Amino acid sequence: MPIYWDHNATTPCADEVIKAMQPFYSEKYGNPSSPHVAGKTAKIAIEEARQKVAVLANCLPEDIFFTSGATESNNIIFLSMLLVECSKRKQIVTSHLEHKSVSEPIMILAEKGFEVLYLPTKNGVVDIDEAANIITPKTALVSVQAANNEIGTLQPIKELSEISHKVGAYFHTDAAQALGKIDVDLDWWGCDLASFSSHKLYGPKGAGALFVKRGRSGFPWPCVLRGGDQEQGLRPGTVNVPAVVGFGEACALATRYLFDDIAKLSSLRDWLEKTLLDWFPWCIIHAQDAPRLPGTTSLAIPGLPADLLISNCRDFCISSGAACSHGTVGSSFTLQQITSDTKILDATIRISLGRSSTKEDVTKFVHSISKILKRLS
Ligand code: PMP
Repeated sequence: MPIYWDHNATTPCADEVIKAMQPFYSEKYGNPSSPHVAGKTAKIAIEEARQKVAVLANCLPEDIFFTSGATESNNIIFLSMLLVECSKRKQIVTSHLEHKSVSEPIMILAEKGFEVLYLPTKNGVVDIDEAANIITPKTALVSVQAANNEIGTLQPIKELSEISHKVGAYFHTDAAQALGKIDVDLDWWGCDLASFSSHKLYGPKGAGALFVKRGRSGFPWPCVLRGGDQEQGLRPGTVNVPAVVGFGEACALATRYLFDDIAKLSSLRDWLEKTLLDWFPWCIIHAQDAPRLPGTTSLAIPGLPADLLISNCRDFCISSGAACSHGTVGSSFTLQQITSDTKILDATIRISLGRSSTKEDVTKFVHSISKILKRLS
């Protein structure tokens, strides 16, 4: 088995998660909307999962709405805004670091007459001083991710949320890469809206959540999805019970292990970066001094293009640019915020460590890179 170093793309399901989900595929298969006992069993399981997500994110369970993942959560927000016939505020403020599930729906809003402003960034982090000038009483919604999927930088969410609220704007954060990796505290951050994804924290794919402060009544736009009352109409459609149960279990595990995971992954990431710099001193580590996700490193070894490195380093699953989009490195807006040097962009890889990663993996990696460089020279 190759060494899996691509945990920002997805994670394996934890054993406990698979165990928790299993009965909901077999004996506990009821539809949670059914009034009979099988339905009630499924409904109770969903509510328990909601509670577990809320504990990890520090919010009220009634403010969590299950969706199929962060892509759907993000789309629900922006596409719902299109349904408002006349609005005094038609300005969105965001950044060039966002995932496509934020940036593409925002582009539709731009086509439909919304003004879209982009916050400048420095070293992969939104410039908070500039934010106060750009976010004004014209702004309807500010959307800035909590953690970047490519370079791992963390954004000043609490400060952005405060600036937004001062001018009466809503604040949304795409926290798909943050939940289970850093201490996500929605209450302290003061977000109005947040998006989550289960498969980034050892839960199953196809599950996630949309957080709305004050629950259904706190969602200020008409619902874009129609056809059922599930999740109070915000996300109609039969709930994927096994996946939601798995997501809940993944959150319970993350609540238990979060600070151990943070300590382990940040020290392993620092060790990886130090070892790489010792062996290949010309290696460039992006945003190394910015606040970053514990297990993420984005780096370039100039002279070794990312596609060559990846195709020659078959013992490792690593990514160039953002693996969860189709993107080539050249199309990564995030990396373009960091450097315009195409040789560095072409050589950039992303390593995202996880619970199974070890120091021995690091040693194997530097030996592999060294062999590749020798072969290519
Ligand atoms: N936002 C970010 C920052 C992400 O990294 C991802 C997943 N790559 C998503 C949104 C989409 O999440 P999902 O796969 O749950 O749709």
